[in-house]
Amino acid sequence: MNRQSNENCRKDFSCGSNCVSTIPSNAISLANAIRHKTPDARAVIKGGNGFDEICGTVLFYQQKCSVFVVADIHNLPKSDKYESIFAFHIHSKESCTGNSENEFANVKAHYNPDNKKHPHHKGDLPPLFGNEGKAFSAFLTDRFTVKEIVGRTIIIHSSTDDFTTQPSGNSGEMIACGEIKQQIKY
Ligand SMILES: [Zn+2]
Repeated sequence: MNRQSNENCRKDFSCGSNCVSTIPSNAISLANAIRHKTPDARAVIKGGNGFDEICGTVLFYQQKCSVFVVADIHNLPKSDKYESIFAFHIHSKESCTGNSENEFANVKAHYNPDNKKHPHHKGDLPPLFGNEGKAFSAFLTDRFTVKEIVGRTIIIHSSTDDFTTQPSGNSGEMIACGEIKQQIKY
C-alpha cells in the first residue's frame, strides 16, 4: 500500500497517531452512511425449521479500507437451552438450502480463501448478543470487501462461538440464514 492510500485509511477508520481528531469525524461519516446511503449489499435473514420467526437484515457498507456491517435481527430463541449469544459467520457458498440433515448444508464452510484456522477466517464475525430475542450489532471489519462476499451466505448459529474449536467454533446448529446480494442503486 502506498503512502497516499495509508493516509486515506487513517482518515477512514483506522485509529492513527491522533485518535482525538480522527474518531469524531469517523463517527459522523458512519452515521451519515446509515442515514443517507443505500448499503452496497444486503442479506435478508430468515429462520430455519423450528426457528421460523427469526427475521432481520444485515447491511454492508463499503468504506475506503474496511466494511461497515449493521445487523438487526428479531425473534431469536430465548429459552434456557440457548445462551443468548449466537455465533455469526459468512459462509463460502451462495444458497440457503441443504438436505434432510441440515437444511442449510449448501452454505458450506466459513468463508476462508486464505486457508486460515477459525476464528481467523475472513467470514468470522463478532457474535450476536440477544436482548429479549432481538440483536443489534454494528461493527467495522477489514477482513473482506463487499465485492468478495456478494453471492455468499451469512449464518446465525444456536450457540456461542468458542473461538477455539476447529473448524467452526463449536457453534451449534444453523438456525437462520441470509443470502448476501448486491444492493441495486438507483
Ligand atoms: Zn470460522
